[in-house]
Amino acid sequence: MYDVIIIGGGPAGLNAAMLLGRSRRKVIVFDSGKPRNRWANNMNGFLTSDGMNPREFIQKGRAELDKYGVELNNMVIKTATYTKGEFVVNDEAGKVYRSRKLLLATGLKDNLPELDGLEELYGKSIHHCPYCDGWESRDKAIAVYGPERGGIGQALAMKNWSDDVTLYTDGTDSLRHEDLELLERNGVKVQKEKITRLEGEGGMLQHIVLYSGEKRPQQAMFFSLGTQQQSDLGEQLGCEFTSKGVIRTKKLQHSNIPGLFVAGDAARDMQMVIVAAAEGAKAGVAINMELQQEDRK
Ligand SMILES: Cc1cc2nc3c(=O)[nH]c(=O)nc-3n(C[C@H](O)[C@H](O)[C@H](O)COP(=O)(O)OP(=O)(O)OC[C@H]3O[C@@H](n4cnc5c(N)ncnc54)[C@H](O)[C@@H]3O)c2cc1C
Repeated sequence: MYDVIIIGGGPAGLNAAMLLGRSRRKVIVFDSGKPRNRWANNMNGFLTSDGMNPREFIQKGRAELDKYGVELNNMVIKTATYTKGEFVVNDEAGKVYRSRKLLLATGLKDNLPELDGLEELYGKSIHHCPYCDGWESRDKAIAVYGPERGGIGQALAMKNWSDDVTLYTDGTDSLRHEDLELLERNGVKVQKEKITRLEGEGGMLQHIVLYSGEKRPQQAMFFSLGTQQQSDLGEQLGCEFTSKGVIRTKKLQHSNIPGLFVAGDAARDMQMVIVAAAEGAKAGVAINMELQQEDRK
């Protein structure tokens, strides 16, 4: 029986494991090796590690856990249940593990547009978050991908980083008169034609090719088409979700299920590596405090 099972070994899960390992808890971390930012070469906005390769960050984090005796297991957890103060999880090989507390740090996955050429450029010059990648795209010709009315906010926001911003609605025509006025007033160009493909080299976007054959020079693209939970374990355990599809958490990452904590992108809050790591640390301390209370004679 473990004190704590952590599912998800991204920044949230690893930082929780560090605090729990340092608290001399018996901890196991399961990780299927698919952190959300695995497409990117750089992890920006994390003080002391700004620009670091995300894979190197995870490797370094895993190595730091060694001296605390934290177990790391690369299996996928398929099922999780909770009964009478005990969590039972099953890995993909059918092996069963039990613990007193459970931390879900399983992250999110992004909805991607179906655009030819996206895969080679995603995470290098095609991004979601201006706080993560806006600086590297500063003063470039920035495209914002947003069908219907979905890209207005992001297109306006990107003016913070460049004067040259174009909103692509990809063959949709739902922008209202007042939207167009707002975009024009703020210097955002609008392109409604359907996109045929994206062209670039070495991960760097060079052109957006339109249905008419026109090649528009663009150097970076941003989009935000929503996210999904990377795992359904929160649902299996009966967690409450917000309307945005993230698990509702209280102070110190408690969920609505006793003994179940959720940290990082899977939980309600800002989605950045440093925030995920901080939430992991909060959960780690809260879990240890709960265990201390339960064991006090
Ligand atoms: C392209 C891109 C670039 C980004 N760039 C930045 C950036 O520069 N700076 C920044 O601060 N943020 C960036 N982000 C956001 C950042 O990736 C997330 O905020 C961060 O990864 C969240 O950490 P996490 O630990 O919650 O989840 P993740 O890092 O997503 O880790 C979750 C882990 O759980 C594992 N897992 C899931 N389900 C299971 C299961 N059932 N069993 C076992 N393991 C499981 C996954 O394999 C994964 O390793 C970027 C995101 C994207 C998409």
